[in-house]
Amino acid sequence: MTLAELQELERTSTMPTYARQPVEFVRGEGARLWDADGNEYLDFLSGISVTSVGHCHPRVVAAVREQVGRLMHASNLFYTEPAMRLAARLSQCSLGGKVFLCNSGAEANEAAIKLVRKARPLGDVVVLHGAFHGRTYGALSATPQESKQAPFAPLVPGFRAVEPTPAAVAAAVDGHTAAVLLEPIQGETGVHVLSEELLRAARGACDEHGAALVFDEIQCGMGRTGTLWAYEQTGVRPDAITAAKALGAGLPVGALVTGERLADVLAPGDHGSTFAGGPVVAAAAITALELIDDPSLLARVRELGARLAAGLETLPHVLAVRGRGLMLACELDLPAPAVARRALLDQRIVVNATGPTTLRMLPPLTIGEADVDEALERLRAAVEG
Ligand SMILES: *Cc1c(COP(=O)(O)O)cnc(C)c1O
Repeated sequence: MTLAELQELERTSTMPTYARQPVEFVRGEGARLWDADGNEYLDFLSGISVTSVGHCHPRVVAAVREQVGRLMHASNLFYTEPAMRLAARLSQCSLGGKVFLCNSGAEANEAAIKLVRKARPLGDVVVLHGAFHGRTYGALSATPQESKQAPFAPLVPGFRAVEPTPAAVAAAVDGHTAAVLLEPIQGETGVHVLSEELLRAARGACDEHGAALVFDEIQCGMGRTGTLWAYEQTGVRPDAITAAKALGAGLPVGALVTGERLADVLAPGDHGSTFAGGPVVAAAAITALELIDDPSLLARVRELGARLAAGLETLPHVLAVRGRGLMLACELDLPAPAVARRALLDQRIVVNATGPTTLRMLPPLTIGEADVDEALERLRAAVEG
């Protein structure tokens, strides 16, 4: 099919929920993608922080192939080894409590919201302006963005949005607060790193009032910032984290992971999902964790992140560079959507605009120096137009 034919099918048959770029990708390998005409692209978006070990990593492909030919689905009425191994590994590499597996980021946050409400019945959930936690009703209610929420009122009650400042967070938490839910680095709204002071204020207020501190690490987790979890680079340990995106190396899987205190809040019948923790996605996720939870890879993420950030600082039209590790954004004095489009169509590098003047980069964690330098050359050309 030609691109024009795909666009016609999109127009007649799909709900117009996405503003797609006019490119059809047909193949991926490492940090490279190919379109239907055989053109090669440098992927500095990773499907929005999903293909963090690169496209079609041979070990992920082998694990999936092996599992898909053996057993694709059994249901959570029974045991399968990949789900149990994934849960154990996720707990060991983070907060040491228990894991609820699910199928997406929004679902991981839904599970977190249900858990903290059960732990403190009728409690409020405090969230921050600038947050994005997903599109399902609970997650959307935790996402204080007028344009995303307004058409879908009424939302789930009991969410309180406050400014992302230490004082505002501390003032919002009291004995009726079930949780503070936040992204240590706000991704969808433009890669804003929350300050250490804010995280400490949230931790202190939650401790004082017996509320749970939940970090949404769906975008910033899984090695993206140069440690397996973003919270490891802060002085603050949350009571639970949510993960998804890169967790399945390209397949849909999410997880809620708790520390000891919240491990046994949910009981049989409280929550569930037909597909959750299926053996194929669990096999992919175990492999993704084996690849990413590796000190030398994580050190490379920090090094290459510093190289990319330093290079971006030198580009024309770049006013500021934000982020940590390989989760970076630059603020431009030009319209970012047009730059992203030129980058894609003229320079064949995939990045995206998270706002009118913000360009975001989330390259695979497996890139090398040469990829960074090539990306900088292509981005220079794209900003220069
Ligand atoms: C992408 C994202 C989500 C939603 O994940 P989906 O898999 O799209 O439901 C939630 N929180 C953050 C921080 C995200 O980046």
